[in-house]
Amino acid sequence: MSVLSVTVVRRQLGDAVSRLLYGFADPVLRSGRRAALQSLLRTDFAPPETLHGQQERLLRDLLAHARASSPWYGERLRDAPAAADFRLDDLPRLPILERSELQDHLDEISGNGQLRPGVRVATSSGSSGTPVRLYHSREYRDWTAAAFDRGYLMCRSFRLGMRRAFFWGSEIDSRAHRGPGGTVRDIVLNQLWFDAFALRRDGLSDAVRRLRAFRPALVVGYVSTLAEVARALDQPIAGLDGVVAAAETLTPPERTLIETAFGAPVFDRYATREVGTIAHECEAHDGLHIESEKLAPDQLTVDSSPCACGRKTPRLVAANSTETLRRVAAYAR
Ligand SMILES: [Zn+2]
Repeated sequence: MSVLSVTVVRRQLGDAVSRLLYGFADPVLRSGRRAALQSLLRTDFAPPETLHGQQERLLRDLLAHARASSPWYGERLRDAPAAADFRLDDLPRLPILERSELQDHLDEISGNGQLRPGVRVATSSGSSGTPVRLYHSREYRDWTAAAFDRGYLMCRSFRLGMRRAFFWGSEIDSRAHRGPGGTVRDIVLNQLWFDAFALRRDGLSDAVRRLRAFRPALVVGYVSTLAEVARALDQPIAGLDGVVAAAETLTPPERTLIETAFGAPVFDRYATREVGTIAHECEAHDGLHIESEKLAPDQLTVDSSPCACGRKTPRLVAANSTETLRRVAAYAR
């Protein structure tokens, strides 16, 4: 059986199985992630005062937790206001966590949190230098995955369970897609994985043929990889809802190149391995909606006017996005 025939069979299997997963099994097997997604979708359309109250409540909970469980923060938050009295306006009074501190004092920072059930060690890709080691709780993984799902749902008519193709792949990510187990997992999740780090220019035409045979509703990838695939596409991908471009700065010429070649709008995403999604572009293409449950950026740096998509969360707008994105990152790099 040819590679293209295998891809077609995978597509047919994936369509059948993913309906069962997302329709029946997902709410039971991944209940935490599903509940997180429902909460995130409610936040999108909540009035600003509700969002403000939610941010302050979560911040107070986080402060109380950090004081109680982290020797590092127990020391550094000694002079900060009591958690119960803490307001968003007090944020500048908190110490900034530098990446080097995270690298050198992780165990002291995480305290006994690292011993909780379900906690896993994670590392950043190291694309900006030395990788950062972290501990991810199950709750963190649920909310991060849900935030990615929320981003996908911003892409026109895409819905969970539809076919997705990924041009992605640090070693950390690609491991889960290798071998029989990885193939079964990808079929169940209705996705096709191209290891971006293993792609070569002379193999792009084969990749494009597989991509076309898979007929994805959504393509997700690094900006530079998507641009290379775009140059190899001889005609648009039929039935594509959108292309999520991430991990690198998306320039206007790259956006035009990718949109024209793939035949679908591009959605810019800014995320990090350390904190997950930071901001995601919606179908109105008028800035990136900020992950407002965990980020409370300076109101002067964002656009809080109503978005045509109806979501009420503040946005990073094109005029200042590159610099602003740096400023809202969760910790100083
Ligand atoms: Zn919007």
